[in-house]
This record gives sequence, structure tokens and C-alpha cells, in this order.
Amino acid sequence: MDNCIFCKIASGEIPSNTLYEDDGYRVILDNGPATRGHALVLPKAHYADLFEIPEDVLSGAAVVAKKVAGTMKEKLSCDGLNLIQNNGAAAGQTVMHFHLHIIPRYSDDGQNILWKPGSPSAEELVEIRKTITGA
Ligand code: 5GP
Ligand code: ZN
Repeated sequence: MDNCIFCKIASGEIPSNTLYEDDGYRVILDNGPATRGHALVLPKAHYADLFEIPEDVLSGAAVVAKKVAGTMKEKLSCDGLNLIQNNGAAAGQTVMHFHLHIIPRYSDDGQNILWKPGSPSAEELVEIRKTITGA
């Protein structure tokens, strides 16, 4: 994709703080990090989101994330870690090239990535299940 910033970063055309690279992926430090070490797994091929990305590229991104997460745990001594992946503007996606956030968490990091739980009735949960599964 000609005008995609993450294509340019993933290919190396635009320099980045790279934590890991192989033939299919580059992992970079996010330049607007939630926490110290916040990184992004970028497939080198362009897919906009979860709906477009092929299964093998998606599963490869998870394997890369696991590798980098292990290194972060060791080197940054983080207390926890979130993997987050946004799809569509409604979900907070701002760069339309698939990416997986790796966010190391520290007990005192002051971030709040959790959501406010709803309280659906049992009937509502059944209705949602039927809508999604058709069964
Ligand atoms: P999204 O909201 O689309 O899931 O996440 C996009 C992320 O990319 C944001 O966390 C943002 O800080 C990061 N980002 C956007 N542009 C750049 C860039 O040019 N370089 C780097 N390293 N990160 C970027
Ligand atoms: Zn792209």
C-alpha cells in the first residue's frame, strides 16, 4: 500500500525502534506508548484488520508477540502484559494496517485498559448467543 505508514515502517523505508524482525514481521516501539516498552507487531504485508488478515499471518503474529512478551518480562520486569488488537474506528483503530499491541504492565503504571462491565439479564445473553451462532 503506497500511502500506508505501517507498510513503510514494516519494510524499513521509514526507520523505527525495532525490537524484532523476520521475513514476515517487524516489532516496533509505539511512539505514543501506554507504558514503558509498548510495542506493535506489524505484518510486513498489508492487511487492514482482523477481517482481512489470513489465518496463517494472524497466527504468526501471535507467535512473534509471545516471543517478544517473554523478552519483555525478563528485561523490563513488567508485572503483567496486555495484548490488544483494534479493528475499525469504533474500536479505536487509527492506523488501518493490522497491528497487535504488546503492552507491558506495571502495578503502578496508572493506565486503565479495562472496561466497565455491563449487567445483561440471562435472557439477553441467550438472545445474543442465538444472534451470533444462529442456534
Ligand atoms: P491503533 O489505535 O490503530 O490500534 O494503534 C495505533 C498505534 O500506532 C498508536 O498506539 C500510535 O501511538 C502508534 N503509531 C501511530 N503512528 C506511529 C508511527 O509513525 N510510529 C510508531 N512507532 N507508532 C505509531
Ligand atoms: Zn500497510
